[in-house]
Amino acid sequence: MQTEDFTKPCKPAQLKNILLPKRPAWVDGERSLFVADNEAASIAQRLIDGLGDHRHLLEAKIVLLYRTGKKASPDGLLEMGRARKATARDHIGLEEADFVVEINADRWPDLDDREKVALVDHELTHCAAVIAGRFVSRLLLDQFINAIGSDFIPTEPEQTDDEGRVLVRYFRRKGEAKAGEDGYHEQPLAWRMRKHDVQDFCDVIHRWGAWNPILVRLVDVLEEPLIDDGPSLFEEEGVSQKAEGGRKEAAGARRGK
Ligand SMILES: [Zn+2]
Repeated sequence: MQTEDFTKPCKPAQLKNILLPKRPAWVDGERSLFVADNEAASIAQRLIDGLGDHRHLLEAKIVLLYRTGKKASPDGLLEMGRARKATARDHIGLEEADFVVEINADRWPDLDDREKVALVDHELTHCAAVIAGRFVSRLLLDQFINAIGSDFIPTEPEQTDDEGRVLVRYFRRKGEAKAGEDGYHEQPLAWRMRKHDVQDFCDVIHRWGAWNPILVRLVDVLEEPLIDDGPSLFEEEGVSQKAEGGRKEAAGARRGK
C-alpha cells in the first residue's frame, strides 16, 4: 500500500468530499472539538479518490473534526476516532453534510503515516451506502449490470434462487426510478453506518483461538500480503484510475513492513 501517496497534501479545491466548516470550535477544559486540518482532510480525500471500496463516498460530503480530551474506558480502551451520520444539527451554518468523522486529536500527532491513513480509512469504512439486491434472470443479467453501472457491487460466490436467477447487489438510491431504469443513477445514494466485521475480546481469543468464522477470516487476512494499489494510483493529480473496480492484486509485505 502506497502510504506516502495518501499523505500527500491536497489543495483546498481538491477536497471535494471533505467539509472543513469555518464555525467556532468549542473548548471546555481539556475537552475540545475543532475542525480538522489539511493533513487529515487530504488523507480522507485521497482515500476516497483512490480506493474502489470508498467509491460511493465520491457522492458524499463529510465533516472532519478533531476531538481532544477523550478518556480511556475502564477496560483501558481509548477511542481513536468515530464516524456517524450527520444530523440536522450538523447542518447549522454548514453545507449539507452526510457524515461526521471525528479523529482523536490527542493521539493523532503520535501516529506514524501508516497509522494515520489506516485510522482515516477505518472511519471512512463506517461511512457506507445501503446495498440492495435483486435476483435477475441470466438472459437479462448483462443488460441489468450495464444499466447499474458503477453502482454494481461484485459478489462472490455467485448466488442463485430456485429459478436459477442470479443475485445482483448494487448501491440503493433514493427516488422514483428503480434500479436499471433511466435516471436511477442520478438519484442520491441512501447512506448507512457500517459496523465492524470483527468484534470480540482478546481474553476469549487468547483462551479459544479463532473460534468463529470471522476470526478465521481475520487470521487468513493477516497472513495474506497487503493489498497493493500499484504505483500509478496518483500519477495524475486528482485522477483516480482505479476508483472503480474490485479488489487489487496482492503484493508487498504484510503488516506494513
Ligand atoms: Zn470503528
